[in-house]
Amino acid sequence: MNIHEYQAKQLFADFGVATPKGWAARSTADFDTALANFPEDSAVVVKSQIHAGGRGKGVFTNGYKGGVHVAKTKAEARDVAAAMFGNTLVTKQTGADGRVVQALYFETASSIAKEYYLAILLDRSTARPVVIASTEGGMSIEEVAEKTPEKIVKIHVDPALGLQDYQKRTLGFALGFKGGLLKQFTKFVAGLYNLFWEKDCSMVEVNPLAVTADERLIALDAKVGFDENALFRHPEIVALRDINEEDPKEVEASKHGLSYIALDGNIACLVNGAGLAMSTMDIIKHYGGNPANFLDVGGSASKEAVAAAFNIILSDKNVRGILVNIFGGIMDCDVIAQGIVGAARETGLQLPLVVRLEGNNAAAGKETLAAAALSLVSGDSMADAAQKIVKLVA
Ligand code: GDP
Ligand code: MN
Repeated sequence: MNIHEYQAKQLFADFGVATPKGWAARSTADFDTALANFPEDSAVVVKSQIHAGGRGKGVFTNGYKGGVHVAKTKAEARDVAAAMFGNTLVTKQTGADGRVVQALYFETASSIAKEYYLAILLDRSTARPVVIASTEGGMSIEEVAEKTPEKIVKIHVDPALGLQDYQKRTLGFALGFKGGLLKQFTKFVAGLYNLFWEKDCSMVEVNPLAVTADERLIALDAKVGFDENALFRHPEIVALRDINEEDPKEVEASKHGLSYIALDGNIACLVNGAGLAMSTMDIIKHYGGNPANFLDVGGSASKEAVAAAFNIILSDKNVRGILVNIFGGIMDCDVIAQGIVGAARETGLQLPLVVRLEGNNAAAGKETLAAAALSLVSGDSMADAAQKIVKLVA
C-alpha cells in the first residue's frame, strides 16, 4: 500500500526526520486555509499529490507543464494550484492515462545547495533491509544505476541489531558529509530506519534529500510503501489509504478476497493458486500472448466470488479473450463452473473463452459448463489451453 507525499512527510516528522513545513489541501476550498500559514511575500512550493513519481517533469493533459512548481508569491501559488487541481497529470510512472490530481501540498520553499538520494528497501535475496544512498539525487535512481553504478552505496542491516552507528557514519562519509551535516545525517537516517522498521514499510525513499544553502539537511520528497501483510498491525496506516489512487478493479477484487493485479496484455486469466497463476502468465507469454492480469481466486472461493472475479477481468477494456486455468485441490471445479456460467450469462459474454478444469470434481464442472451451452473451448492441459487462447485472440 502506498500513501501520498504529504502523509509520508507527517510520518517523517513523527520519527524526527527533517522535512520542510507544509500543509495539504484536498479541495479548492482548502487552498486559502493552507496558504494562510505562509508569510505574505514568501515563496511556496505547490506539489501535486498522486501515488506516482516523476511529477516534477510531468505534463498535464491540458498542456500545463510540471506537477511541482516553486511559486514566488502566495498569489502565484494560488494560480498554480488552480491550474493543477482536478486536472490529469501524466508522468513516466503513471502510464499514458495519467492521474487526476485530487490533493495538493503547499510547502515552504527551500534554497537547494545539493541534492542526494536515500532509500531503505527490503532486499529479498539477503532477507535484510538495505539502505541505498547516492550523491546523485533528484534524478531517477534507475538512471544512476545504469550510467554511474559506482555512485550508489548499499549497506545491509542485520534486523536483530538494527542500523548501527558505524553504518550511519559510513553512509554519511560516502555522501561526503562532515561536521554538522554528518550529525544531521546520522539522525536523519536513524529516524528513517526506525520508521521503516516500526511501520513495516516495504520501502521509504527520499529523492531528493537536500542540503540547503544554510546547511540544513531535509527531505524534499518522500515516498513510503507498506507491506500489506502487516497492515493488520497498523490501523493508523490503513486510515491513510486513498482508494482514488488505486485501480478500481483491484479495489473491487480486494472486497471479494481475490488477489488481482491488472497488467497491460489482452488475455484475461482466472486461476486458483498464486503459483499456478504465475505459471499461467508465463505460459501465455511462452506461446506469444500477453496476460491482461494476475488473478488468484484462492482455494475456497464461492460461486459469487468467482462471478465477481469474472466481471472484474471483463471490465478491463483491453481484454480480447479469457483463459480459466483451475487445478482443483481444495477448490471444487464445479463451483468455478457455476460461477463462470452465472457471470457469462449475466454479461452476455462474446469473447473467446478457454477453460481447463482438472482435479477435485472436474467431471461435474465440465458437465455444468456443457449443460449451459456456452460457446467455450476446453483445454486438455495447461499448454493446450494456453495455445488455444493465444490462437483465438490472435
Ligand atoms: P517528483 O518529481 O515526483 O519526484 O517530485 P519531487 O518532490 O522530487 O519534486 C521535483 C523537484 O522539485 C525536486 O527534485 C526539486 O529539485 C524541486 N523542488 C522541490 N521542492 C523544492 C524547493 O523547496 N525549492 C526548490 N528550489 N526546488 C524544489
Ligand atoms: Mn522526487
